[in-house]
Amino acid sequence: MSAVLVDAAHEPRKLKVATVSLAGCFGCHTSFLDIDERLLALIKQIGTCDIGLIEGGLCNSENVLVLRAFRAHCKTLVAMGACAINGGLPAERNRFDVGVLLEEVYHHREGLSAESAIPNDPELPLLLQQVRPIHAVVHVDYFLPGCPPSADAFWSFLNDLMAGRTPHLGHALMHYD
Ligand code: SF4
Repeated sequence: MSAVLVDAAHEPRKLKVATVSLAGCFGCHTSFLDIDERLLALIKQIGTCDIGLIEGGLCNSENVLVLRAFRAHCKTLVAMGACAINGGLPAERNRFDVGVLLEEVYHHREGLSAESAIPNDPELPLLLQQVRPIHAVVHVDYFLPGCPPSADAFWSFLNDLMAGRTPHLGHALMHYD
């Protein structure tokens, strides 16, 4: 999606918006798509990646690589939703040692088969000891709270951004659940 801006040569140009999900549940993406037909109006305005929306925090090494690459390609980075902002639900595991958790899940849980083993394929990304918010690794320009943020919050936030205004959700759209 994009907004029409005027560049230094006074030529209109489009803004590109990209999204990615790290350690999230796609609930923020679903809410974003709930903008429904209004999305079409936004898409008409959008051109490549000026605004990056990130859902989810960091739970493994691949999340960190994706986040760094995404940051490098976005002018403005937005942490959307509780998981990106503070780790959210996946961060509940931070109270436990990750090694103990793996042992519990793959060796000690009830109903496991005798062959159950901790996955160790080299293709699998390594788990981080703790789930981390994205601002622990890269600079974040804006935080859009909620679990998930509502479609109206996305709508208001993106319209402000694309019009060159500092986003201001106001009391009605600002929530943390
Ligand atoms: Fe899902 Fe909520 Fe996390 Fe969004 S903030 S990815 S809706 S758990």
